[in-house]
Amino acid sequence: MPHVNYGRLMPTVYVDIGALPELVGITEKDGEIAIGALTVHRTLQRDAIVCRALPLLAYSAAQVGGGWQVHNRGTVGGNLVAMHPLYDIAPVLLALQADVEIQAPDGVRRAALGKILAETSHGLGTSSLLTRILLKPMTSDAGWAYEKLKITAGSYGSANAAAVVSLSGNKLSTLRVVIGAVSEQPLDASEALHGLLGKPWDAAAGARVESLCSALPKTLLDDQQGDATWRRAMAGVVARRAVQAAVANAQRTSK
Ligand SMILES: Cc1cc2nc3c(=O)[nH]c(=O)nc-3n(C[C@H](O)[C@H](O)[C@H](O)COP(=O)(O)OP(=O)(O)OC[C@H]3O[C@@H](n4cnc5c(N)ncnc54)[C@H](O)[C@@H]3O)c2cc1C
Repeated sequence: MPHVNYGRLMPTVYVDIGALPELVGITEKDGEIAIGALTVHRTLQRDAIVCRALPLLAYSAAQVGGGWQVHNRGTVGGNLVAMHPLYDIAPVLLALQADVEIQAPDGVRRAALGKILAETSHGLGTSSLLTRILLKPMTSDAGWAYEKLKITAGSYGSANAAAVVSLSGNKLSTLRVVIGAVSEQPLDASEALHGLLGKPWDAAAGARVESLCSALPKTLLDDQQGDATWRRAMAGVVARRAVQAAVANAQRTSK
């Protein structure tokens, strides 16, 4: 609809999927959580399954800008398929290693969200429907955080990062970090940070996260939320802050 309002798109046919009850709601079965594509941000914030098993997603859904109207009407599926670089949900679902289910005329396909985003940055086309998002519950020892830099409380992010960690003593045993709103697509920094595994989390590790993550973006957004130089610096800052907060969260959970 924003593209229509700006005159960039002039569709002759609209398909309203809003009345498909199969696409609404959240279920948990055989150790997997399925989130219907039409589930709205407000539901993600309050649903008992999401709050217990995917608290990072519940928290990040509350960070979506635009206020109550957007939280009550904006869907998780629309948020993903729009593939807007400043949106909050894709980086978080990547950090949680989500799969998506896509219905097309030739059948149903399940694929890692990261694979779908690597294949396209312009939606799914006119004949495919995102039906569900599929995730494993977070482990009970996981620490998590979502850091979003924004100009006002309700605005788009100018850099964001989702982190999920687990600790063995004070050493990092797993680490997933995804950075959003600095490039056209979310950047999965987890592989670049592999060298921190098995090492203690301290100021030097934080500085390492910041420098590695600042170096990661190949191309940068340059818009009214911040220029490219600032975006590069902030990619490192939000990543460091997110890991720091996720480690603190894991330490609190283990007490
Ligand atoms: C004022 C404002 C502020 C916002 N701020 C933020 C923010 O800070 N962070 C953030 O993350 N988001 C933000 N949003 C986006 C919002 O969270 C919605 O998720 C987003 O607008 C998608 O809306 P929608 O669900 O109505 O999808 P639509 O706008 O209806 O759809 C978006 C696109 O996806 C396609 N589509 C939708 N559902 C499916 C499906 N199931 N399968 C295939 N294609 C599909 C549509 O055809 C369309 O191309 C903001 C929106 C507004 C209006």
